[in-house]
Amino acid sequence: MPEKDLAQVDAEVFKLIDEENRREHESMRLIASENYASRAVMEATGSCLTNKYSEGYARKRYYEGQAVIDRVEELAISRLRALFARTAEGAEDDIHVNVQPYSGSPANLAVYLAFCQPGDVVMGLGLPAGGHLTHGHTVSITGKYFKSVPYGVRREDHRIDMDEVRRLAKEHRPKLLWAGTTAYPRTLDFAAFRAIADEVGAVLAADIAHIAGLVAAGVHPSPIGVADVVTSTTHKTFRGPRGGMIFCKKAHASAIDRAVFPGLQGGPHNHTTAAIAVAALEASQPSFVDYAKAVVENARVLAEALVERGFGVTTGGTDNHLLLVDLTSKNIAGKPAAQALDRAGIVANYNAVPFDPRKPFDPSGLRVGTPAVTSRGMGKAEMAKLAEWIDRVVANPTDEALIAKVAGEVKALCDAFPAPGLRI
Ligand SMILES: *Cc1c(COP(=O)(O)O)cnc(C)c1O
Repeated sequence: MPEKDLAQVDAEVFKLIDEENRREHESMRLIASENYASRAVMEATGSCLTNKYSEGYARKRYYEGQAVIDRVEELAISRLRALFARTAEGAEDDIHVNVQPYSGSPANLAVYLAFCQPGDVVMGLGLPAGGHLTHGHTVSITGKYFKSVPYGVRREDHRIDMDEVRRLAKEHRPKLLWAGTTAYPRTLDFAAFRAIADEVGAVLAADIAHIAGLVAAGVHPSPIGVADVVTSTTHKTFRGPRGGMIFCKKAHASAIDRAVFPGLQGGPHNHTTAAIAVAALEASQPSFVDYAKAVVENARVLAEALVERGFGVTTGGTDNHLLLVDLTSKNIAGKPAAQALDRAGIVANYNAVPFDPRKPFDPSGLRVGTPAVTSRGMGKAEMAKLAEWIDRVVANPTDEALIAKVAGEVKALCDAFPAPGLRI
């Protein structure tokens, strides 16, 4: 008798996965941190590699039976090193890679553990300005165990204020300086962060969780070889499995490796490591560069179309994969707009805008990203359509007949652009 499959063993979970598969097919997924992993990536993720314990690193493990796992991890590392060396500063030999962090947040914690003592001063972009929780926000362990000094964006143009970063760094002398964002639509000047870190003797950490795919493709400048350490997720623009990775200079290799294991984690998720290797192979193809360019182009076109329709877009546009829409001019807050859009099959998240006069759980903005729709092959014409739908729904957030009509049109468009990885 062949072993039963999921549908036979657990109809309930099978049905839930099927429903999510349908939702991901039928909707325009605009959450800037999300994407569609390929069938190949998901196959590796769903493999027998999940069965193996392999604490340690290749050729230095604590259990036997690592002949295959060592090769998987070394393959992932060598592919990532070669891929990111193409756009990095400096020599490929000086790039050390750790693929074991369970996700982006644990990768960042490893940086604190490698370089800081509890109570040390750390600096990062504040959450309300587009920074990440793990860069020292008060509710995060990183804000509780370290003395966090957040920097912000300028009031006039909502761009990171490098003069303020320098002033605060000189005043507070951080041990660790973060350059990385989660809701910021502009290019980061890693060289300027490097200069400030050098002036105050700080370790510079770049967090490219959102933009790793753009960095790999050369569409955003790379901090690798500029920053001391670079952390990332693997599942956002990079389009791999849910996971984390750390790049650092060789001089920091053992501090980072020891921080990840045994400092923070136990056995690595080998099925994820294999899927990261697959994603690195996919990202080294010319088609990935086309995808990354299209992600940025789509975001630019969408921002322009929304501005034309009277929406506020912070900083006036975007250089990367996301835009922050300020809904103040439309007399609606972010949350009701996001909820109405979700009912229309357009899925984004409500988000604070810089200097938001509203509360964090009921802010003025929407964060909109183009990675997932671009992975489906959508382009300029679809972005124009999207702007029109967003405009109609946001202007009529309680008109359920109109919302249902838009949802039907969204579904028809999605049917014409099958997404990677899904089963339809
Ligand atoms: C998403 C993100 C993370 C955290 O990643 P998780 O995988 O959700 O833990 C860290 N830093 C930045 C800048 C991010 O955008």
